Amino acid sequence: MKRKPQSEPKQSGWSMFRALRFRLAVTYVIFFALVLSVVGLLFRETLATTLSSHTRALLEEDFVAVKGYLRIERRQPIWFYDKDDPEEAFFVERLKDVFLLADKDGKVLEVTNGFLALGVEPPDRIQQMVASQKPYWAIRENARGDKYLVRGGGIDEKRAQYFMAIGRPLSENEAIVGEFTLKYVAVMPLLLVTAAILGWFFAGRALRPVNDLAERAGRISETTLAMRIPKRGSNDELDHLIDTFNSMMARLETSFLQSRQFNADVSHELRTPLTCIRGQLEVALLTAKSEEQYREAIQEALEDVERLGQIVKSLLLLSQAESGHLTLQRMTLDLAALAADVVEQFQIPADAASVRLLTRLPENCPAEADRVQLERLLSNLLSNAIKYTPAGGAITVALDILDGEARLTVEDTGVGIPEEHLGQIFNRFYRVPGQVDSAGERGLGLGLSFVAWIAKAHGGSVEVTSTPGKGTRFTVRLPVLLVTPAAPEPREAPAHHMT
Ligand code: ADP
Repeated sequence: MKRKPQSEPKQSGWSMFRALRFRLAVTYVIFFALVLSVVGLLFRETLATTLSSHTRALLEEDFVAVKGYLRIERRQPIWFYDKDDPEEAFFVERLKDVFLLADKDGKVLEVTNGFLALGVEPPDRIQQMVASQKPYWAIRENARGDKYLVRGGGIDEKRAQYFMAIGRPLSENEAIVGEFTLKYVAVMPLLLVTAAILGWFFAGRALRPVNDLAERAGRISETTLAMRIPKRGSNDELDHLIDTFNSMMARLETSFLQSRQFNADVSHELRTPLTCIRGQLEVALLTAKSEEQYREAIQEALEDVERLGQIVKSLLLLSQAESGHLTLQRMTLDLAALAADVVEQFQIPADAASVRLLTRLPENCPAEADRVQLERLLSNLLSNAIKYTPAGGAITVALDILDGEARLTVEDTGVGIPEEHLGQIFNRFYRVPGQVDSAGERGLGLGLSFVAWIAKAHGGSVEVTSTPGKGTRFTVRLPVLLVTPAAPEPREAPAHHMT
């Protein structure tokens, strides 16, 4: 079946990018519209307040001016002004436009039609206002809906008290505010369209580096895994994203190379015994004469089959462990007793290799751990120690309780590991080149991978220090203790020799 070309995901990536740009631009426009509306309302409010206080000041001046032009004689208002001066005549006519004069009891003495249309205050209200001697301000409306600002108050004329009120139309103010509102609303769509264009442009510019990043990421394939995206040097979120991306690429590259190496190693490991078996059987077929010779060839082939089986079993177990399919069977156990048991099992091979086995273990060390896996861990470390320690050397297994966790140490006086290999010995199939064990055999290179996995699965870790020619020490940290025993620390316990 033919695979579909990879253009589809790229397409969807692009449309998503476009949608993001669109959303950014829309957000910008909405924000801008909100700001414009709030600013417009504030302006409108300020304009209305300014105009209204201006009108109030003018009306106050009119009120004082009226008092200058008005005399009241025999309860009748008489206007004094130069009738030949058209300007003054016009001014007084305007003042009289909305005018009311009443006596202190509220009886109307004169009222213009303009004021009548707004409605005259009832007599008792007028009486009150004269008595209070406070200026009276009100916004009144006539039947046509025209609004007026009215200023009233008591006035004294020839020892008698009167009530006078005049008004000034507010329609002009309303017209100015209305015109402002209209112009503002008319200009707003234009501003919003400009904002939309700018928003689209800026969103596009802001997203360009992301687009670059996506494009470069799209070009990465298994052959260009070493490719890294250069930082822009702006130390911003995008640089952080590039950093994260690059470190993800580095991890991917390492794991890809490891897996490639692993595949190569597995093929190699399986091929070597297979080639041996084939060689032995072919030679036997061609040259063997006696039953004894056949038997020998089959025996050798069987040993290699055994080795092959071991590799496959270990690999299976390790891949199960690393893929999370092998889970720990935790139980309550005594770590000190477990260590002593395993050490005892290695007594015979240690004797055979003329290596002394020493232990330094506490009385007991209750813990919650997987017995089988911990036995495997210690066995691997011990068998390595025996393999790489020449005759006459010593191996010490110690169990300490430090900082609330158990520390298992396996220290030998063997050949040691050169520093440049220390970081790799926990990798699968890794063996220190040129190093052969005491029996002259090559190990599988899987033992320490197990040790590392078992320590990790218990929430702990494993460390190694080594001096070539002097010896190696593996320290396994296991945070599995049930109770932290109080002093005295097991370190103080006298060394227990098991040779
Ligand atoms: P192997 O089956 O080869 O022992 P391991 O994974 O257990 O595989 O160990 C990896 C390599 O680390 C070994 O091949 C050996 O070179 C080195 N090594 C492990 N333990 C020791 C030790 N105690 N002393 C010296 N070298 C060691």
